[in-house]
Amino acid sequence: MKLKEKLVEFCKNLGFDLVGIIEPEPLKERLEVLLDRHKKGYNSNFENKDINLRISPHLLLPGTKSILVLGLGYCSEVHFKDPLKGQVARYARGKDYHVVMRKKMTRVVEFLKALQGDFQYKILVDSSPLIERLLAEKTGLGWIGQNTCFYTKPTGSWIFIGEILLTIDLGIHKADGIRGGCQNCRICIKACPTGALEGEYILNPHKCLAYVSQARGVIPKELRELMRHNLVGCDICQEVCPNNRGVLPGGNEDFKSMDFHNIDIKDILGISNTDYKRLYTGSAFGWCGKKVLQRNAIVLLGNQKQPEAISLIKPFLNHHDYKMRIHAAWALGQIGGSESKLLLEKRMVEETNLEVVNEIKEALDKIQQKASHYT
Ligand code: SF4
Ligand code: SF4
Repeated sequence: MKLKEKLVEFCKNLGFDLVGIIEPEPLKERLEVLLDRHKKGYNSNFENKDINLRISPHLLLPGTKSILVLGLGYCSEVHFKDPLKGQVARYARGKDYHVVMRKKMTRVVEFLKALQGDFQYKILVDSSPLIERLLAEKTGLGWIGQNTCFYTKPTGSWIFIGEILLTIDLGIHKADGIRGGCQNCRICIKACPTGALEGEYILNPHKCLAYVSQARGVIPKELRELMRHNLVGCDICQEVCPNNRGVLPGGNEDFKSMDFHNIDIKDILGISNTDYKRLYTGSAFGWCGKKVLQRNAIVLLGNQKQPEAISLIKPFLNHHDYKMRIHAAWALGQIGGSESKLLLEKRMVEETNLEVVNEIKEALDKIQQKASHYT
């Protein structure tokens, strides 16, 4: 068996659902799209701003001769039944995939070194500046859908992608290719609650709940209600896609072991730093931090409009971080009622931050409008 075949077999035995080898050509065809996104301000903070780096494997590892593209399916059962809990997107329900993938990819490098001797390499998982979906598509083993997700079979779009840049020439491996492709049905575009999919293959990350729910800072007002019960991430444009129909939950134990399908919002609001670390370190969303999760939980409580939640939100109206006060004021405005009104008025007397003052004013106006509607 040739080196390439042995390598592919080893990767498959490690559980990888996608194994392709491509040449490290610069992704020049992507340059125009990237420049356009840059012009529109569609770069997320998770993306590298250096466009050259995004399309040039050689800049990341000089002398790269092959790129091994690997993918690990993560489809899990959908268990979300309780609207009073916060939903966690499928990618984040198990162990941190960066760690799981990197561990397996390190084993691949060790295997190659044992066969081939020393060489240079670079393992990239998700945080890579390179456009991973495009590299995966170049393997010929899948395609990119209009929702901008990469699809292959049998995992559908529920797949983590990583690459190993190698200074050895392995030749290319595309297997027999794969049948299928985006059906151009636009169902994903129509289903996106925020309009983040602004057109075919055009995603505005600043409107995308998957991005917004993980980014720090203030959630734009117009997106808060649209978050509905999404605590971490959003799967809507993938759930509705006909190409994901019939995809079975995968067998990778790492992505089942933590089992975060939905999380009790009350628990998140009251959680201590120690408990946050104990429960969520090692999960795929633990890195977001306690504050981001609590901010999202407050928004979800605002969306649920349950008066019992007022006491849970109350401490955040006096939080030392003004951003938490903004979301608390908004949520109280959503819930409404005399108790919310009193709390907001009391805070208004002490508040010095202009953004929070404005948020409180709007919340009070909303409560007032609701009250006059019923009188
Ligand atoms: S993840 Fe959600 S918000 Fe983002 S594009 Fe898909 S449906 Fe829209
Ligand atoms: S929903 Fe339709 S248009 Fe969107 S990615 Fe799936 S097949 Fe393509």
